[in-house]
Amino acid sequence: MTRCLQLLMSHMASFPVLRCAIVSKQHFLSTLSTKVVDLRSDTLTTPTPKMREAMKNAAVGDDVYGEDPTVNRLEEMAASILGKEAAVLVPTCTMANTAAILVHCDGRFNEIICGDQSHIHVYEVAAIAQFGGVQSRLVTNEPDGTMNIQKIMEKIRPRNDEHQPWTRAICLENTHNRCGGKVISLDYMRQMRELSFENNLVLHLDGARLFNAATALKVPPADITQYCDSVSIAFSKDLCCPLGSVVAGSNDFIAMARRARKALGGGMRQAGVIAAPMIVALEEMVGRLEEDHRKARTIAQAVDAMGDNPVCKVTMSGVHSNIFLLELDGVITPEEFSKRMTEVTEHEQKSLGQVCTALMFPFSSRTVRLVTHNDITDHDVDLVCKKLQYVIEEMAAPAES
Ligand SMILES: *Cc1c(COP(=O)(O)O)cnc(C)c1O
Repeated sequence: MTRCLQLLMSHMASFPVLRCAIVSKQHFLSTLSTKVVDLRSDTLTTPTPKMREAMKNAAVGDDVYGEDPTVNRLEEMAASILGKEAAVLVPTCTMANTAAILVHCDGRFNEIICGDQSHIHVYEVAAIAQFGGVQSRLVTNEPDGTMNIQKIMEKIRPRNDEHQPWTRAICLENTHNRCGGKVISLDYMRQMRELSFENNLVLHLDGARLFNAATALKVPPADITQYCDSVSIAFSKDLCCPLGSVVAGSNDFIAMARRARKALGGGMRQAGVIAAPMIVALEEMVGRLEEDHRKARTIAQAVDAMGDNPVCKVTMSGVHSNIFLLELDGVITPEEFSKRMTEVTEHEQKSLGQVCTALMFPFSSRTVRLVTHNDITDHDVDLVCKKLQYVIEEMAAPAES
């Protein structure tokens, strides 16, 4: 038992987020009324009762045979909403991106251009290199999630030099996770469409949170995806599904993406149980995303209202969707700040009249990421706003005296 615990703790040393969870658990045990508001990620959302009902009742068949009616319906709905000829269900958005890039970079000696902060490059275990032999050519992401177009052009390879790989695709991300949930504008998407067209390149969009982008831009999703050849969407983020993603594109592309999916181990059988809650998400969850954006803005505003302070700030003009970043000014580290948010002091409890802890993600050397989602209520937002203001004041106090 002790050995088990030791092992667990030693693993956790490299996972600050998990450590926070444990700290809060202790507080939960010591103060029964503690409210834990989990702002680490929208992947933490659990399926709604309606989704569970849909899973239970889903009509199913063997999807590798193309005979699962629920999967077929989901793929048709997704293709139609995204304005593409076809779509295919995959278990995760990592597989969606990987399958898409493997198809776009068929054969050998190929390369994609993507952002140095892109999910594809940072968080997908180099899948495209492992399974596709594809090299990533990086362009620095601007703080707004875009890549400078001139810099992209400089990275496109000439085709007549046998020393160099061929550039095959440019990958964008909208909304942009590591850039703090930034929404990429339609105008930028259009410019990228032109650039890729002129250079005979494919444009792939990692739209894990495309519906958040569409909500923020107040346009139908197809207005964004009209500019890309292929798009991946995650349903397990702010859309609350337990799992499931789709890739959409042309008929020919999707036919090949199905082969890539099978090769990657993603050919699933009675997958209607996965597709059913995804249909519920398309019908019912897309419309509520604005609520999460509003909640993110409310929390950000509470920090902004603290004005100039030595602890942290939020750039309000950069709060676009359900993700935003607290920018720490270097006095306190993201880890220290996040840890303090998982604790409740006696003075705090007395002065706020609440026992609330919040889980947040230390994101970079200077930032903490906050994510709102379906499981965060208005009451939670209220508690977190008060707590953030209290903690910022507390941490700022010694510097003032
Ligand atoms: C989460 C995420 C992915 C990968 O999704 P998984 O389903 O976790 O594999 C890809 N891109 C972006 C932008 C994401 O946020």
